[in-house]
Amino acid sequence: MAKDKQPSIKDDTPVTADAQVLDDLPASVFFQAVEHSPVAISITDLHANILYSNRAFTKETGYASDEVIGRNESVLSNRNTPRLVYDALWGRLQQQKPWSGVLVNRRKDGKRYLAELVVAPVLNDDNETIHYLGMHRDVTELYALEQRVQNQKAMIEKAVNAANVAIVLLDEDEKIVLDNLAYKTLAADLAPQEPSQVILHALRNEMGDLDVSRGRGKGFKDHEIRLEIGRNRQSRWYSIDGSVIEIGDETADSFFAQPERRYLMLVIKDVTELRRRQHAEQMNALKLLIAEEESLQSMREALNGALYQFQRPLNLMTAAVRMLEQRKGDEHALTEQVIGALREAISAGNEAHEKLENAVPKEHPGVKTSINMNELLRNVLELCTGDLLKHGILVDWHPPLHMPALVGNESRLHSLFKQLVDNAIEAMASSGSSRRELNMVARVEGGDVIVTVSDTGPGVPEENRTRIFEPFFSTKPHTNQGAGYGMGLTIVQEIVSEHLGTVYIDPLYQEGCRVCVHLPLNTGRS
Ligand code: FAD
Repeated sequence: MAKDKQPSIKDDTPVTADAQVLDDLPASVFFQAVEHSPVAISITDLHANILYSNRAFTKETGYASDEVIGRNESVLSNRNTPRLVYDALWGRLQQQKPWSGVLVNRRKDGKRYLAELVVAPVLNDDNETIHYLGMHRDVTELYALEQRVQNQKAMIEKAVNAANVAIVLLDEDEKIVLDNLAYKTLAADLAPQEPSQVILHALRNEMGDLDVSRGRGKGFKDHEIRLEIGRNRQSRWYSIDGSVIEIGDETADSFFAQPERRYLMLVIKDVTELRRRQHAEQMNALKLLIAEEESLQSMREALNGALYQFQRPLNLMTAAVRMLEQRKGDEHALTEQVIGALREAISAGNEAHEKLENAVPKEHPGVKTSINMNELLRNVLELCTGDLLKHGILVDWHPPLHMPALVGNESRLHSLFKQLVDNAIEAMASSGSSRRELNMVARVEGGDVIVTVSDTGPGVPEENRTRIFEPFFSTKPHTNQGAGYGMGLTIVQEIVSEHLGTVYIDPLYQEGCRVCVHLPLNTGRS
């Protein structure tokens, strides 16, 4: 309260600035205003002895005016307010300054309440303190509410910190408003990257715009992402739940309008162990499947090879019969017998051919599913790890951050890329070159997934680049060990065609051999 605007309560001579107001408003109006004010008001002498108390004072304290007039304000003290508080109060008053604070008061009936008190000096024209003015209100309920909020906040913080899932709350600008210990640990693991940003980026890649700030986002559940973490960039899997929380604005501007702010809460569950176990089981199943497929394939190749070899003498015999028939009756009487014998041989041969053909294991059309190419290529490399290590081959594999799903036959595509990696390993191992590097790149271009498998082996001469996809074409010697049937790339070609794609040897690659596989993304659905 400024001294020159402070009308004296005892001395009713107003200061000049307020003279007009007091002319218009009689002193009784001021008295009634104070008397009926809803705030508990008291006026004391310089020792805090009460000279006046209004109706609200009576209502608040339980003391009628005549019960407190002449008594000290300390009658309201509950005797457990720290001394320091009173010292501060009196210190301010001695400096002719107002003081405000909270005291524990006791009503006439003994009930305690919290009083939010403002005390101020009342000055006369000579700038001397002549009285003290006290105004207080009961803030017990408000304090209880505040405490409840504080307690709940503390409990929530404790519970959130004890949770073994990482929790983070983001505002509309994606700034962190609240996070727990598990989230902070994740942030330390991912540093310098911020987990929430990495996760939002991955989620947007998978789900498009999250639309949280524009109010259309509804949240999501169990969305799984994979992050490469730590010095060794180890894969970790996280299951993410996202919920949109609407919270009322706390600023004064929004008191009547109550616009809502939208927050996104991410609950990040580490499911790495589960995924690792699933992955190990999946890899074991895949190994069995591939081993079975490979043994069937080598049987197919062996039988097809035998059929191919078998067909030649049969063709020769057929040609010989045709020739002998043309010369029938000419000179030799034996012709008829020879033809007969040959016919028998051809018929027996055809019968054997047919039996052999039926013995070739049939290929199953397989089921088409949605395939994550990154996952598939990673599995192929994992399956070949033993051979790659054995031959001291360095692997350079850069999966793209995000790869759209491709619809195809998973086990056939596995066989395709395993064949290409096996070929590359064999080419580098057999060439004896000291630089052994296998490079695998996958990318999406013009609606195709393009995978290139490059090696630093001897490469394929220009004249063979098309022929190596032909059946039984092989640059390797035929051995008894079963290798060298020359069907590997034919099968690669076959699988690529099943997926409406193309495969070729890159003519521009100079370091060895580079096989390029193009698989369209939007076809091949069944
Ligand atoms: P002490 O603080 O030890 O004081 C003893 C006596 O001296 C009291 O009469 C006190 O009023 C007076 N006194 C202390 N210091 C000074 C000083 N520097 N100058 C002059 N006199 C002094 N207290 C409450 O607990 N609840 C209230 O609601 C409350 N309202 C107040 C309203 C006003 C307008 C004023 C001026 C004071 C108010 N007080 C209130 C403070 C109260 O006067 C006591 O200081 C306080 O209650 C402590 O009591 P005490 O018995 O320990 O007295």
